[in-house]
Amino acid sequence: MQAKNIAIVGSGLAGSLLAIYLRKYNHQVTVFDRRPDIREVKFSGRSINLAMSIRGWNALDKVGIGEEIRKLAIPMNKRAMHVNNQPEYYQYYGKEGEAIYSISRGVLNRKMISLAEESGAVFRFNEKVWDVNLPEAKIYTGETEKGEWKEYAYDMIFGCDGAFSRVRHKMQRRSRFDYSQDFLDAGYKELGIPANDDGTHKLDKNSLHIWPRGKFMLIALPNLDGSFTCTLFMPHEGENSFESLTNDKEVEEFWKQNFPDTMDLMPTLLRDFENNPTSALVTMKCYPWSYWDKVALVGDSAHAIVPFYGQGINAGFEDISVLDDIIGAYKGENWQEIFEKYQETRKPSTDAIAELSYRNFVEMSSKTADANFLLRKKIEKHFSEKHPNKWIPLYTRVTFTHRPYAEALEIGDQQAAIMDEIMQIENIENVWDSEEVEKQIIAGLNAYQVV
Ligand SMILES: Cc1cc2nc3c(=O)[nH]c(=O)nc-3n(C[C@H](O)[C@H](O)[C@H](O)COP(=O)(O)OP(=O)(O)OC[C@H]3O[C@@H](n4cnc5c(N)ncnc54)[C@H](O)[C@@H]3O)c2cc1C
Repeated sequence: MQAKNIAIVGSGLAGSLLAIYLRKYNHQVTVFDRRPDIREVKFSGRSINLAMSIRGWNALDKVGIGEEIRKLAIPMNKRAMHVNNQPEYYQYYGKEGEAIYSISRGVLNRKMISLAEESGAVFRFNEKVWDVNLPEAKIYTGETEKGEWKEYAYDMIFGCDGAFSRVRHKMQRRSRFDYSQDFLDAGYKELGIPANDDGTHKLDKNSLHIWPRGKFMLIALPNLDGSFTCTLFMPHEGENSFESLTNDKEVEEFWKQNFPDTMDLMPTLLRDFENNPTSALVTMKCYPWSYWDKVALVGDSAHAIVPFYGQGINAGFEDISVLDDIIGAYKGENWQEIFEKYQETRKPSTDAIAELSYRNFVEMSSKTADANFLLRKKIEKHFSEKHPNKWIPLYTRVTFTHRPYAEALEIGDQQAAIMDEIMQIENIENVWDSEEVEKQIIAGLNAYQVV
């Protein structure tokens, strides 16, 4: 394979993992980021916790860094549900031993940059890319848009510069480039639950905690230091919205009413609420993801999704492992074909996970607390345990398998239609585990020919 001189724009998770993959083939790799080196910044301002699942781990394991990263993660094998006026209860995610992993995005990013540097990639921080010459694979960096720019020439450029990508922005100006951007009515704010004095967690640390409240919800993911990172998802405007909470008194009243069991757990609530930004949530789709054999997009720059399936970076990492398989199949020889194959393979899947993520907000914030929904899940679980080859629940297919997201969406919709019928059966709450119900599910599967 001929070694290339490659620029990656963005030292986030996608950019740093891609650097490690490309260094495997001895390509020369330079990574540009507009931000300072995150390893030297005391607090990055945001500390999103990611749920890492099998697709992400697979991409990390393939380049031999999975074990190192697992040391930074906490397994969560269940949802811990906090419904008002009910004791906390658990919903297990998968089979025994299956879990998703909580990991701080900042901690992970720092580690990934160090691992990429060790592999031989060069990082240029504080260099914002303002413009890209697509046909000549040149990038232009500088302090300001109007100021003086430096020009760098490469054989290829990868845009890993996130949802508001500058590289994609340049591609958008070309004819026949499809692009869409949809903001959700809801936004989010990070809050915190500190550790106990002895460093232990205040809540069960192997759970993803959810306080579902219909149109809004609070979640909490564990950190290694005993704390939890909480995220409040809520509409920007209207009743029970960020806009409606304008001072400490209003926040406190709202909290007492909606999350009373967390009042003692969150001593810094009012300070966090005031100091931490309210951020927007966006779904971004575009196509094509490449320009000839010169430029390609990877991660959020190609497909930003809302976070309700916990799949954003899992999908980004899967981009990289799929791209790597294709590079291998083509022996790194024909980059235009490699990029075409890559975008054709990934696009249907990332569109599907965008749709599933959007839908999951409703599931997480309202349905998880609904008795009918819980019964439905119980029936699915019962059937799938009895017939594991006939029924893989949608969440399992997305989170614990490598099957394409597009397949998960299609089969998930068929399963939903079957379950809609099952839930119409009279007295279903008493006959849910009967042979009749089982037979009807099998008949439904036969009709869809998915058995
Ligand atoms: C609230 C929330 C919760 C989430 N939870 C999960 C989860 O549970 N599981 C999961 O898998 N995913 C989750 N995600 C998604 C995940 O955070 C993203 O998919 C992931 O961070 C995207 O990585 P990236 O490297 O593609 O882009 P980014 O992380 O956005 O990195 C882009 C990098 O490019 C740099 N950059 C941008 N523009 C320029 C420029 N012009 N010049 C130079 N550098 C530039 C930026 O400084 C940055 O370092 C969540 C996201 C949010 C918002």
